[in-house]
Amino acid sequence: MSGQSWCHCSTELISQPFKLQKTMNPISKAIHEKVDIDGSLPVVTPIFQASAFESESPFFYTRKNNPNIQEFENVVAILEETRFSLSTTTGMSAIHLVLGLLKVRSTLVVNSDIYGCSYKLFQKYCEKLEIKLVIIDLSVKENIKKIPDNTSMVVFETPTNPFLKTINIREVSEFAKANNPDCCIVVDNTWATPLFQKPIKHGADVSLHSATKYFSGHSDVMGGCILTDNENIYNQLHEMRFYQGSILAPYSAWLLRRSLHTLEIRLKHHSETTSQLKDFLAGHHMIKRVYYPEIDGHQLTGYGTLIFFEFQEKYSEYYREFTNNLKLFSTGTGMACISSMVAQPYSGSHASLTDAEKEAMGLSKSIIRLSFGLEFVDDLKYDLSFALLALADL
Ligand code: PLP
Repeated sequence: MSGQSWCHCSTELISQPFKLQKTMNPISKAIHEKVDIDGSLPVVTPIFQASAFESESPFFYTRKNNPNIQEFENVVAILEETRFSLSTTTGMSAIHLVLGLLKVRSTLVVNSDIYGCSYKLFQKYCEKLEIKLVIIDLSVKENIKKIPDNTSMVVFETPTNPFLKTINIREVSEFAKANNPDCCIVVDNTWATPLFQKPIKHGADVSLHSATKYFSGHSDVMGGCILTDNENIYNQLHEMRFYQGSILAPYSAWLLRRSLHTLEIRLKHHSETTSQLKDFLAGHHMIKRVYYPEIDGHQLTGYGTLIFFEFQEKYSEYYREFTNNLKLFSTGTGMACISSMVAQPYSGSHASLTDAEKEAMGLSKSIIRLSFGLEFVDDLKYDLSFALLALADL
């Protein structure tokens, strides 16, 4: 291609002054063309889809940091009121990163009710590094005393997946740290959200989230986030994330940050709907039991979106028929999104567990999980009533 002059259209007005030689090949010139964004003052932060930054930039390389990632992390730290925040590619990578704090042949305590993939990760990780894995039902107060003296880390969700049992973070932390002050208390806060529970204020060292759920709220992006007030833990995780390369992508960070603008109003809607529909289902003659967390107003100050229920024995095999009758619920394990979802944990979120492991957890095929979206509550009630009524004819 020749070095002759070429089209200068309206971009000329906002282009940086071009100081390189005039005879330059258009290809080189095109490569170095950049719009001057310094005075553009957008109302929201644009996407910095850049892997590298110039040496004078406070950002260096997106595997370490990036403006969108920084902004997302700052927002989560503000909402959960913590000092430090680190984003990751998914919730699972957040859990995996935190496991990296453990030493070989140490002891890890995990609550018995936990997301199926987390459970499998703990099993496989511990097996490889000869870490002793101890499973305890920490939702039962007396069991907290079973945490072994030499425990290095305790991990639990509260409310738990499945069954939405709650665990007293302060009691677990005080007991474990009385025996080993360095014991790291890790709470998976995904199902509570930063608005309804702040684990660090109740004695946890680390709180983590699958940002894929409430933070996204639209089923269109994956991410994870780790929060702590402990600078030493933050520095270790920050360094490991840089070398592992498990940082969130800029576009995902931008999407998640955007969704967090509406977290509070979405949660308000989810909570009101969930509260009404759990009462409706609890009073339904075809339903044996509804699982909903204990909102104590101190540790957990609210709740919304997801509940579990159990069919009466007569209908326990009718999951497929029930979902076929529903019109407003998509099937699948998504949750906290705009539209409602229905799932069977036995074959979905906990499919990776063996039948014996599911049985030990009390997870049968008759346990159904509902995630309520942003539809009008009366429409969801009508849909559920109709789908249940249709089972009576079978
Ligand atoms: N933690 C909890 C409580 C979850 O429910 C999930 C996923 O369902 C995860 C972690 C994993 O998150 P992700 O799917 O973003 O990796």
